[in-house]
Amino acid sequence: MTDRLQDPEHPAPGPVADEPSMAQVQFRRAKAHIKGLKRGLIEFLELPNRTVKVCFPIEMEDGSVQTFRGFRTLHNHVLGPGKGGIRYHPDVTEDEVVGLATLMTWKCALLDIPFGGAKGAVICDPKALGETELRRITRRFVHELGANIGPYTDIPAPDLYTDEQTMAWIFDTYNAMHPGANNRPVVTGKPLELGGSKGRLEATGEGCLYATERLIEFGLVPELTSLTGARIAIQGFGNVGAVAARRFMEAGARIVAVSDSQGGAHAADGLDVNAVLGHRRAHGTVVGTPGTGTLANPDLLTLDCDILIPAALGGVVTAANAADIKARLVVEGANAPVLPEAETILAERGVVVLPDIVANAGGVTVSYFEWVQNTENQNWELEEVERKMKARVRRAVEVIVARWHSLNAKPTESDADSLVAPVTLRTAALVVAIERIARATLQRGIWP
Ligand code: NAD
Repeated sequence: MTDRLQDPEHPAPGPVADEPSMAQVQFRRAKAHIKGLKRGLIEFLELPNRTVKVCFPIEMEDGSVQTFRGFRTLHNHVLGPGKGGIRYHPDVTEDEVVGLATLMTWKCALLDIPFGGAKGAVICDPKALGETELRRITRRFVHELGANIGPYTDIPAPDLYTDEQTMAWIFDTYNAMHPGANNRPVVTGKPLELGGSKGRLEATGEGCLYATERLIEFGLVPELTSLTGARIAIQGFGNVGAVAARRFMEAGARIVAVSDSQGGAHAADGLDVNAVLGHRRAHGTVVGTPGTGTLANPDLLTLDCDILIPAALGGVVTAANAADIKARLVVEGANAPVLPEAETILAERGVVVLPDIVANAGGVTVSYFEWVQNTENQNWELEEVERKMKARVRRAVEVIVARWHSLNAKPTESDADSLVAPVTLRTAALVVAIERIARATLQRGIWP
């Protein structure tokens, strides 16, 4: 498995002490622009539908027994079954899982995906666990979750420190628990042989490119009229960052810096991304790629460039470094890399943030395509997957930009939170997503 542990210094989108969580701040900024939502409906949209907490023992390879705790949150299922990753991490908290499940709700609604938002986690240190232990933890977690996951209830996917092997174990365990049915759609991000979709691994990085291209076409970033020659710095060289680096380079951009957990590689005239990939394969890090200078991780964020793509951790652009960001556009490849107070500072400085809800939505879009292929026992060609994903991501950007224009045309007089926060693309995206779910809730009718 790759190095996927989050840096404990960088907060995830859960609450800090009694402060509202990042997801709540973002929700409140958006709801101030939505008229006529009843108070009870607002609470329903903000709060998670349910969190299942489980606790189970595992016999370790040395014969000892350890007890593990896990969660699965279903934030909202008005549009369809829950969808969201499962992460394995020693510091993961229930609040963090709730925040990420909330983001999934808005992301699915914005991308017109008929799923709700969910997220799950097991508190464990995958770096200290052997494969047998990881398999036992996965199987037992699925067993403990029981009917709380399923092809039409809640559909997990990979997240930090889980991968297609983990998804294969989830499928196999669920299948053993429900014999005689087509259980492939219970989980996405599976290996191709077990019904995984072509293009899933590349989808998130590729979606970043499609979303950025569409945004630039709108001329919303005045200093950036084309990707040709644009200087791009990318934090994180994993699934999202490395694919984004290659795709942006192929689109004509210059990748001036990339980084991983050990540091960064920098070349003002542009890196050869394939050479960086080769160096990382051979040495386990991008640092020291021949022909590049070395860069400390915090310096990558404030490097002189046109586009910054944080594609590693949450909470890396903060009130402390937002004023020093030189990029004119920040594309959120990771979930929640820009903290709300940093976003306000960036907006005031005219730096545009293309939010995670659309910038990294290529992944969940192709996960949805995997689910569709599994339910129909189909296997789409790569070209079909990419064409359909690109169309959805571009459409989502178009919808966000249209709403951003209309929100800026008539400023709201509502609550204090919105008055101090400029209308950003994120706020516009959340307004669209929240309105869609609110409308669907009322169309279904408040039950009973
Ligand atoms: P990954 O584990 O494949 O890659 C993470 C990369 O970040 C690695 O290169 C790692 O070395 C690097 N990294 C870790 N700490 C770092 C630090 N302090 N500074 C710089 N780099 C550091 O993970 P991924 O799948 O690429 O996911 C990255 C982010 O994107 C996560 O926030 C994830 O939740 C989000 N995301 C991923 C997907 C997906 O489909 N993979 C979809 C949506 C969102």
